[in-house]
Amino acid sequence: MRIASLSRRFATVVLAALVVQPSIGAKVAAQSSSPGQLSPTERSIVRSVDSHNRDALALLVRLVDINSGTTNHAGVRRVADILRAQFDSLGFTTQWVDGTTFHRAGHLVAEHPGRGPKILIIGHLDTVFDPDSPFQKFVRLDDSTARGPGVIDMKGGDVIALYALRALEESGALDSMHVVVVYDGDEEDAGTPLSAARQTLIDAAHGAAAALGFEDGAGDPRTAVISRRGDISWTLTTTGHTAHSSQIFTTEYGAGAVYEAARVLDGFYRQLSTERYLTFNPGVVVGGTAVSLDSTLSIGTAAGKTNVVADTMVVAGDLRTLSPAQLAHAEQVMQSIVRHNLPGTTARLVFADGYPPMAPTAGNERLLAMYDRASRDLGLGPVVAVDPSRAGAADVSFVANEVPMAIDALGLSGHDDHSPQETADLRMLPVQTKRAAILMYRLSASPGARATVP
Ligand SMILES: [Zn+2]
Repeated sequence: MRIASLSRRFATVVLAALVVQPSIGAKVAAQSSSPGQLSPTERSIVRSVDSHNRDALALLVRLVDINSGTTNHAGVRRVADILRAQFDSLGFTTQWVDGTTFHRAGHLVAEHPGRGPKILIIGHLDTVFDPDSPFQKFVRLDDSTARGPGVIDMKGGDVIALYALRALEESGALDSMHVVVVYDGDEEDAGTPLSAARQTLIDAAHGAAAALGFEDGAGDPRTAVISRRGDISWTLTTTGHTAHSSQIFTTEYGAGAVYEAARVLDGFYRQLSTERYLTFNPGVVVGGTAVSLDSTLSIGTAAGKTNVVADTMVVAGDLRTLSPAQLAHAEQVMQSIVRHNLPGTTARLVFADGYPPMAPTAGNERLLAMYDRASRDLGLGPVVAVDPSRAGAADVSFVANEVPMAIDALGLSGHDDHSPQETADLRMLPVQTKRAAILMYRLSASPGARATVP
């Protein structure tokens, strides 16, 4: 999910993200810029985070050492049970949402009632590593780095959110705060139907003033995510009259299914391929006289003869956009191209459910500014936005259009997620925990952070 199209506003950040080395973590962790104005409560929050850093790390090791590949329902549940006990100890009401109806393990939900604006915290329990993967354990590489399955994606983020709440609890700030935590059990491979798999998260977002996602982001702790491209799939099916090839292009038999599909794809390319942040990729194509395509497995078969006009063509692809408006416009243009068929042919384009876009709204910018301010006041330096073309799809996108403010990538940074080289910069554990705790504290205290209840 990583395509490098740069825009001026993000150029420097992306370049920095591309060459992430532990040194960035060292710089952020050892920021010498003088801490700004922290209130007494905020200073006690910081002390709590520092005093619990060893516990947080021990919990992270414990969670990483439990395999919770999405298909390993028992493993996902074990991770959930450990985290659930932690939230219970903070006075949250916790619940396990069974995932049978959408063919996954399920989700962990924890709620702390309070009169403050509702804050939604998003994480996930599952990883991309199956039980038979050789990559199973947390391994400390040196003082500041460790490797392990899901260490940054995103068990580190789950622990950061939890210990930020623990610091708020210990400082007394949590008493008046309304916080809902949803840790999905199938983020890496969403259940079906998708609407059922994401219902818990969407319900939890109702009435929320802000949604905070704790994914690992683009690997640079000087950045956060306020926009993510959506990702949906589409299937184009064209038909034509089968005939002896010598009759192609005649009025009676027309152009055949293959030329019609080529016309449509060429139309997509000509009319839409220069729009920023819009990409659509025809990933698999099958055409001929006996055609089948299994879209889940992305496997197809086709039979045909050079002297027979193809009567069917199927193309499956994805569509990535930055905003609901860009998605609606792209779908509309693509459908209008599909309508003007070559002689003797038909074409049908179907869009499937997928990850909606998270647009860079003014509310998200405002939340980033609050996060940046909190980081500067902590003496941890500025935080800027990541270029959305570098931010893959993630669960925050399902609620981004529901809440007035959303941000993601508040989790543990490092590099090489989704690979056996997945590595965390452990110095970022207390850094990200402090940033998140102060942000949540200020959100709960700020009159402006009131949900615009629809
Ligand atoms: Zn993730």
